[in-house]
Amino acid sequence: MDTRFFVIWMEEITAAVRAGRDHLTRLDAAIGDADHGTNLDRGFAAVAEALAARPPDTPGGVLVLAGSTLIRKVGGASGPLYGTAFREMGKTLGDAADVSAADLASALEAGVAGVRRLGGAEEGDKTMVDALAPAARAMARSVGGGGGGDPEVAFAAAAAAAEEGAKATVPLVARKGRASYLGARSAGHEDPGAASTALIVGALRAVAA
Ligand code: ADP
Ligand code: MG
Ligand code: MG
Repeated sequence: MDTRFFVIWMEEITAAVRAGRDHLTRLDAAIGDADHGTNLDRGFAAVAEALAARPPDTPGGVLVLAGSTLIRKVGGASGPLYGTAFREMGKTLGDAADVSAADLASALEAGVAGVRRLGGAEEGDKTMVDALAPAARAMARSVGGGGGGDPEVAFAAAAAAAEEGAKATVPLVARKGRASYLGARSAGHEDPGAASTALIVGALRAVAA
């Protein structure tokens, strides 16, 4: 996968977040402050602008620019967290011009580690980590075994795992982020950040298909 693939991934995310904006905001209205959709919509619109203004010449460059832009443009918790995820992924890819599904699987693992380090959330805390961590595991498993390193297979596995992880946040009680202020009342709602992670990983599947 070359630089262009990663630019198209960012474009797919921008479109998916635009289409899902109101849904994400409704999820955040239930257990947060009703801004997750608008936060990400603003952030990824800025990513698209930054990529057009200063086109990077490597896959890692695309992801680092996306991450830095999200950190700068998104005020909420999700900005620094997603920003860190993309920056860590980009740094892991380094200056390679072409990357494999296995490279991206390693990068995603580094991205998840960055989110955990910054936010301190474990799986089960009802955050984006509940979708990101299973996605990274599924991608690593696919490239290491059954999928034979086929990106289409690996990204489909990751997207399905992210969707499943997001749905599995519904019964959980939040232990991190704003939703944790609600205590037991946070149960019964899908976590907005886990839902947006499913969109982001789903966009990767769409680009590879
Ligand atoms: P804010 O909560 O500041 O308004 P957003 O609404 O944009 O920010 O994002 C909320 C999402 O961020 C949550 O649904 C959750 O998935 C994620 N999140 C919040 N805090 C953490 C954390 N400490 N670690 C991981 N993810 C977190
Ligand atoms: Mg919010
Ligand atoms: Mg907010």
